[in-house]
Amino acid sequence: MNNTLTRLNEKVYFICGVGHSGSTLLGLILGSHSDCFYCGEAAKSRFLHDPNKPIKKRVCKICGFDCRVWGDLNLTDSLDLYEQVSRKTEKPIMIDSTKNLEWLEEQLTAIARTTAQPFLIFLQRDGRAVLNSRIRKYPDKDIKELIESWRTQIQLTKELFQSFEHKKIKIRYEELATQPETVTRNLCDFLEIDYQPEMLHYYQQEHHPLGGNDGTQFLVTKAQTEKIKEPIVSLSEKNSYYYQDRSLGISLDLRWMEELDPNSKRLFEEIVGQENEEMKWGF
Ligand SMILES: [Zn+2]
Repeated sequence: MNNTLTRLNEKVYFICGVGHSGSTLLGLILGSHSDCFYCGEAAKSRFLHDPNKPIKKRVCKICGFDCRVWGDLNLTDSLDLYEQVSRKTEKPIMIDSTKNLEWLEEQLTAIARTTAQPFLIFLQRDGRAVLNSRIRKYPDKDIKELIESWRTQIQLTKELFQSFEHKKIKIRYEELATQPETVTRNLCDFLEIDYQPEMLHYYQQEHHPLGGNDGTQFLVTKAQTEKIKEPIVSLSEKNSYYYQDRSLGISLDLRWMEELDPNSKRLFEEIVGQENEEMKWGF
């Protein structure tokens, strides 16, 4: 790749927080803007073409191996990732929802040497909802461990947010899901892009995310069965009842209120009730 070309990548929007907080939804919404490309969890680009990694972690979750963005992309160390993907997609704005703090620090350092402007979005969701999703995904893990790891990730993300010296904003998943237009409009103002109505119909747009939430991505493939013949994304048994019949519009997922057992709720309250206070949704 020729490094002397004028830089195409102008901005990078980082979505940070804890997994299962709605970052795939937010990424797909922002990635539906005509100037933006949603990379998904861009850290997974390190696994491209690595046969030792599970397929779901090393190919586009929508198109698989034949992806026109990631399929034949050979990354080089001589240029930051976002500029390489900008050149490939011809989009000036990149979105990365990797939660890993080391990755974020590395990328922020890499961009600091360039003219690209970083923005940080801290996506928050009621920790009880996050815990419920994680129990569903890791049924054999110790509940206390899951709660502790939630706390660690929240603390590290808060530290990153505090020390971040560029434009930053906190968004609540529950507000995004219940008032998508208002929240997206405000976010567009903050991100210095125009609001485009297509963003709320994210499931009708073209996307090439690495990693991320199966359920939300499944809705994209469901809306585009003509175009997307053999999607990589599939639903686990525990999720399929919910997403199979779900309408495509944006709606609030409050399954935790029904599913989270009283014992886990009490443990969560005891261990991290304090930390969850600002993220609490409902009672
Ligand atoms: Zn793709």
